[in-house]
Amino acid sequence: MAGKGSVIIIDDEQSVLEILEQYLVDRGYEVGAAGDGAGAEALLREKSFDVALIDLKLPDCSGIDLISRYQNEHPSMRCVIMTAYASLDSTIDAIRLNVFDYIQKPFDLVKIGEVVDAAHASVSIASPDGDIIGELEQDRRELKESRDDLKKCVVKANEDLGHAKDSLNRHVTRLKMLFQMGRDISSNENWSDALDRFLMALCKYMEADGSALLMFSFGGKVLQVRTLYNMEMNYLQTAVNLLIEAQKNDSLQPEIFSLDSLTEGAPLNCLSARGAWSNSAIPLLYKGMWLGFLLLRKRYESKREYLDDYHFLTTIQTILTEEVANAVNISRLRNLNDFNETILENINNGVLKTDRSGEIVFVNSRAREILGDAADGKLQFDDLFRNPYGSGGLFDHLMSDTDRNHSIESILSIPYGGTIPVRVNSTLVESDEYSGKSLVVVFEDLRVQKAMEEELRRADRLRSLGELSAGIAHEIRNPLTGIATTAQVLREKLGDDPDKIKYITVILEEIRRLDGIITSLLQFARPLTPRPAELSINGVIDEAMMLVSDKAKEACVDINFETALEDDGCFLDRDQIKQVVLNLVMNAIEACNEGGGVNVRLGVAEDTSGIVMMFEDDGCGISREVADKLYNPFFTTRAGGTGLGLSITRKIIENHGGSISHEGRSKRGTTFCVRLPRKMVSAAAAVETGVTI
Ligand code: ADP
Ligand code: MG
Repeated sequence: MAGKGSVIIIDDEQSVLEILEQYLVDRGYEVGAAGDGAGAEALLREKSFDVALIDLKLPDCSGIDLISRYQNEHPSMRCVIMTAYASLDSTIDAIRLNVFDYIQKPFDLVKIGEVVDAAHASVSIASPDGDIIGELEQDRRELKESRDDLKKCVVKANEDLGHAKDSLNRHVTRLKMLFQMGRDISSNENWSDALDRFLMALCKYMEADGSALLMFSFGGKVLQVRTLYNMEMNYLQTAVNLLIEAQKNDSLQPEIFSLDSLTEGAPLNCLSARGAWSNSAIPLLYKGMWLGFLLLRKRYESKREYLDDYHFLTTIQTILTEEVANAVNISRLRNLNDFNETILENINNGVLKTDRSGEIVFVNSRAREILGDAADGKLQFDDLFRNPYGSGGLFDHLMSDTDRNHSIESILSIPYGGTIPVRVNSTLVESDEYSGKSLVVVFEDLRVQKAMEEELRRADRLRSLGELSAGIAHEIRNPLTGIATTAQVLREKLGDDPDKIKYITVILEEIRRLDGIITSLLQFARPLTPRPAELSINGVIDEAMMLVSDKAKEACVDINFETALEDDGCFLDRDQIKQVVLNLVMNAIEACNEGGGVNVRLGVAEDTSGIVMMFEDDGCGISREVADKLYNPFFTTRAGGTGLGLSITRKIIENHGGSISHEGRSKRGTTFCVRLPRKMVSAAAAVETGVTI
């Protein structure tokens, strides 16, 4: 069918009108029929037509006139001429008027149909009101619909983009947090702060109510709360107990589980949880070793809710495990390092390390103390230690020997500071730092040990000397007794003649003096074991002072005794202590040979359990040379001295468990200081040191 155009037929033949009308209506056209120009005029006033079929000959006008009028009044209408009398003129007119077509009567209906269709189509194309507009409108509607759809799509896409942005932000926050956490925990000196920050950030980010970190210590034996955020200690203690119990039963898995499920029995993996739960435990398991648990208090109503967090939580689990393991290792290393450093710095031996060329690259504080300022400069091992093996450097010897360890005695030469006997313990170590071997040396200052050895040797010598002296004294005393007896007999026989007995008296005096020396000698060689008894120490000193008072007067020396002891009760050997006081006061008086004063002061010792006796004089003082030999038996600077007074004094004091010392410089007087326990410490000690003959 051609379409829904409209056609006006103008013809004066009624039959033509009817046939054409019927035919065109059948073809789908709206048809108007007029018998003359006036009728057509009336129809055209009512509506416009797409096509006009016009007969050339009409009763009231010619078709050409109508067409020419229509050209002005209905320019879009296509005019087709129908005529039975075609002439050249009318044809030319028709062409000039630009009619659409020209049909000769009698006509073929099909041909008419085709012409009308073509004319109508031409109108449709040319006319702005035609189908094209309809189509365009249709298209416009469709376009609008599409645009609306597109708008919706754009809004949706924007929404999606917003979600994507949020999600990206969340991821960035996560990454930031994880990065921060890693850096913080393993780089921090004090990782407790870092853990606190981490728990806080985790809760904030996860929108969780609280969190805590439980960690195993003491080789995985004890589980403790390491740090917590918004969780109660009581709850955590219960959780700790439950977890320990579960661990004992071997029911713990490395997967994140619901802590709530522990109260009901075995731990339940969150991925298999059915109901809701509030506390999750994230196990931290590193290479088969349980480090602890990260607890998270967040309510999950269902497994689906949990799945949103699952990936993040497992990432946290992986990273935190690594970081905690690192931090534990670092803190272990740090402790070990501190421990080693403490040992190195507090050890009473010098410790050195060399590089492979023998230069000292490390000294501990004891070595620095011994070496003094030299420790700050460049030092070579061989400049410090003498080689006891003979020629060549000790360093090369120790480095090339097949034994890695050596323990030898050597002499340490301190640059500009003398020498020290030392024991060198060296170990050859492989050291990456010094690309090859180096030597670690621990050296011990043997000065005290050597001095003790010397003291032992001296004691040994004294013992032999004592034994010898005692033997000689014993041997001398017998003949001396004989001489003394004989001299006394002689004296009796000589009567009272003063000239005669004068010589005998000198002999007897000298014998007495010799006997005194022998008594002292024997006392030194075989001091009597102290027999302690209750005594008043003030009284003992008073007695001794009385005994020396004449002698002091003779030497024009003032002697004076002060005591600060109210309770002066002691448990000591009375005679021996009196002898100590006598010896020291006599020495003091003798030191003041040109007059002066001697002060004896008695007081309480610093530790209050003992007493202190001070013997001060303003005599000649003690020179350094004398001080070294002061307590040696037979050492004396006095013409009539035996040199046994101080050695006997020291023995008595030591046998009582006390000590004696002196201070004072040459020509400024001397102070001897005797410290004694109130109660004698050990009688056994006296027996041991006593010499038997
Ligand atoms: P002695 O009295 O027989 O000389 P000691 O053993 O009592 O023997 O004394 C040894 C030496 O110690 C004395 O000869 C003296 O040189 C010195 N000495 C002892 N006490 C004093 C003192 N208070 N001041 C100065 N020198 C002293
Ligand atoms: Mg003396």
